[in-house]
Amino acid sequence: MKDKTCDTKPTFQQNFPYHNDHAIEQSEPYANNFDNDDELYNDWELDDYHLLTNWETAEHNGWRLPATKEPHYWCAQWNHKGCIHSEDHQTHDGKIFIRRYQLSCFRPACKTCWEKWIGRQSNVATRKIERYSKKENISPIHIVLSVSNWDYELDYKQMKQKARKILNEIKIRGGSIIFHPFRFNKKIRCWYFSPHFHVVGFGFIPKGSLVDAYHQNGWFVKYLGVRKSVFATFYYLLSHCGIRHRTRATTWFGDLSYSKLEKEILPDFSKCPLCGRKLTEIYYKGWDPPIESNSFFEGFLDSEGWCVVITEKHIEPCNFEYAPTRELNNLLQSLEQAR
Ligand SMILES: [Zn+2]
Ligand SMILES: [Zn+2]
Ligand SMILES: [Zn+2]
Repeated sequence: MKDKTCDTKPTFQQNFPYHNDHAIEQSEPYANNFDNDDELYNDWELDDYHLLTNWETAEHNGWRLPATKEPHYWCAQWNHKGCIHSEDHQTHDGKIFIRRYQLSCFRPACKTCWEKWIGRQSNVATRKIERYSKKENISPIHIVLSVSNWDYELDYKQMKQKARKILNEIKIRGGSIIFHPFRFNKKIRCWYFSPHFHVVGFGFIPKGSLVDAYHQNGWFVKYLGVRKSVFATFYYLLSHCGIRHRTRATTWFGDLSYSKLEKEILPDFSKCPLCGRKLTEIYYKGWDPPIESNSFFEGFLDSEGWCVVITEKHIEPCNFEYAPTRELNNLLQSLEQAR
């Protein structure tokens, strides 16, 4: 039953918008003494967290932090793709199109590629949030829902269902949910299990609903305000989010769920921007390549020295080793004698 004595302020029928102080005021006393551990050091780079804490070994129910697994041998290798059909590139003086890029597995768990994964995910998420924000003329907000100690043993699916129920109660229309299984304790430089959900989304939180959500569900809900840089928020949240096999790190709900928002059509980077042919793998035959090594490049160059990589299917020759009949007879004889 709800403890009325804790709710000292009168409840209004009218809904206050999220930027009204009331909604924020009410959750702060609870949230301030609970969510502090999630603040990271200002002067530390992410690499410092990876090396100077229990980052690599922190684990709970299959959840880990990003960048804990060894890369493939080809992760971060430099590669060239291009279109050598200069005959169709007249507008660019008959030069060939070349893109120099780094190979990546884009796995969040890869120690080499995790930042590429974060960058890609943050870009997609930011564009999705921006499209909705412009369409509905509403600013995105950031909320943290901390799982009650009583619910620590729920499985992830049940935890997320409860988070969705609370988001419904506090009138969040939709957004993205990112799960953080761990918080960081600065004093002992340790990541420890403390599950919570971060939400970047849209809605007008009614006055008193955060306190109500606490009384009804036991979860602290903290409002962290309107987001200025959506990209930076996603980048930060994904940098220490929960990573688990076959589980998405970012999920979308409500008005921004997968079915409700039209799919973004991205330019096709696998094709030549001039003639539309599929780009093929190419290499430079010579000592002095015209592009600086270990750097990204995209543009038009003279065709001299550039060749297409030809890959052939390699079939291992099959060896059928027959023993000469004489040897086979000896073999059979010795087997017979041994019986
Ligand atoms: Zn990788
Ligand atoms: Zn967090
Ligand atoms: Zn082309």
